[in-house]
Amino acid sequence: MHTDQLNTYTLKKMDYEAVVGLEIHCRIKTQTKLFCRCSNDIFNAEPNTHVCPICMGFPGMLPLMNEEAIFRGVKGALALGCDIPEFSKMDRKSYFYPDLPMGYQISQYDLPVSEKGKITITREDGSTKDIGVTRLHLENDAGKLTHTAGGSLVDYNRSGTPLVEIVSEPDMRTQEEVSLYARQIQKIMRYVGCSDADMEKGQMRFDLNISLRPKGQTEFGTRAEVKNLNSFRSLEKAFDYEFKRQKEILESGGTIVQETRGWDDNKEITVSQRSKEEAADYRYFPEPDIPPLILTREMVEKLRSELPELPHVKAERYQSEYKLSAQMANDLSSDADLAAYFEGVAKTSGEPKKAANWVLSELGGLLKAQSLSITDSKLSAENLGKLVKLIEAGTITGKIAKDIFEEVYEGNLDPEALVEERGLKVMEDTGALEKICQEVIDRNPQIVADFKGGKEKAIGGLVGQVMGATKGSANPKSVNEILRKLLIN
Ligand code: ADP
Ligand code: MG
Ligand code: ZN
Repeated sequence: MHTDQLNTYTLKKMDYEAVVGLEIHCRIKTQTKLFCRCSNDIFNAEPNTHVCPICMGFPGMLPLMNEEAIFRGVKGALALGCDIPEFSKMDRKSYFYPDLPMGYQISQYDLPVSEKGKITITREDGSTKDIGVTRLHLENDAGKLTHTAGGSLVDYNRSGTPLVEIVSEPDMRTQEEVSLYARQIQKIMRYVGCSDADMEKGQMRFDLNISLRPKGQTEFGTRAEVKNLNSFRSLEKAFDYEFKRQKEILESGGTIVQETRGWDDNKEITVSQRSKEEAADYRYFPEPDIPPLILTREMVEKLRSELPELPHVKAERYQSEYKLSAQMANDLSSDADLAAYFEGVAKTSGEPKKAANWVLSELGGLLKAQSLSITDSKLSAENLGKLVKLIEAGTITGKIAKDIFEEVYEGNLDPEALVEERGLKVMEDTGALEKICQEVIDRNPQIVADFKGGKEKAIGGLVGQVMGATKGSANPKSVNEILRKLLIN
């Protein structure tokens, strides 16, 4: 065999691994844009209604940096474990595009507002991995072009809105890791109030940098960068597509071109936009109209002190303090509002585990069926807590609780009052309960015979009938005990 053929053959047998770094843009949650007083609340607004000479880049305009955007950006960075240097600055990144009226973007180049962070992701199998965050920096967004048959339309509402760009180290290896990292970033940005990161409102988008290398090789391969993915789904699909595309090229002995690619959401493919040779020279230089950002240690510590408990810390606390499963702890801490609600229910009921169950299963199911979120819940945490407490105290049975749940939810009723009013308490009159048990025994000679003959499970049939006869108001445990006592005599 010729050596070339041999090489191709060994190449073909190779197992490839992906190397991924993400650049994530999130719109900072501010009232106004980054350099002007135009409203940042642009979703569904008529085109070009949130604009002024500054964000439309009129000659001679002077940008004024929005302090709130800096503070919220820094909070986001702190939550990603980043260092905040005392000195940073804004830089001009020049390029021409019709959606960029100034002819440059004001971003951060060599001295970003933060650097050297990391976050921890938890894989499906429970294992964890740290993903490095190279930096989080501040920049403004561009406007938006819409191409129609009659020509291209430009909307400057988005122009000048504030962004954080979060750049990761090339630490991700699988689609699962990419997906988990992106979701974790979204969660953290929301938690600390840096960004609502709502993808449906265009508040979060991803650039996927991906290369392949034979498993075991330490050097990275040549990467492609897929720009502007605006959903988790397209991020995941783009990963799959690129993995396959690059693998096929490598397996056929070809080489990967370093290039920027776009994502076609309809065809679910990536398409080449420009290669490295055509890459723009941005001519970065310090933005002369904006003074450097000086963040004193006091300011940074003040911002740090304002950070809420972060999701993974919360999840760990739920496991150690409340003895919840990892799954439940993660689910409850995934959203700050949900976590606060759960803690309310846990506090009122004094039963965190049961509280977690009711919040996730009963209430969660009901909300999900109506596509509502926890903040839409008609039922207060206090009233749900009271319901859980009634069950735990043995005042009502779980069955009764489930029966009245929807009614309690709809009217945000006080379950204690409702139980009192309807007489739903567990039947405490053992005399009456014994009578019903005896009647059920008399009516079911076959089940009784089975039980006495050693079929332990047969007693369930009797318990069920007693529960039915008491409309669920008996405590199944007491029923079980009474039946046994009667059957043994
Ligand atoms: P650029 O400025 O051209 O966008 P950067 O060096 O800043 O390039 O890297 C951008 C992103 O690409 C980062 O998230 C980084 O982790 C990632 N990256 C760099 N090299 C590779 C590679 N060989 N394969 C995959 N991702 C990479
Ligand atoms: Mg890039
Ligand atoms: Zn403006």
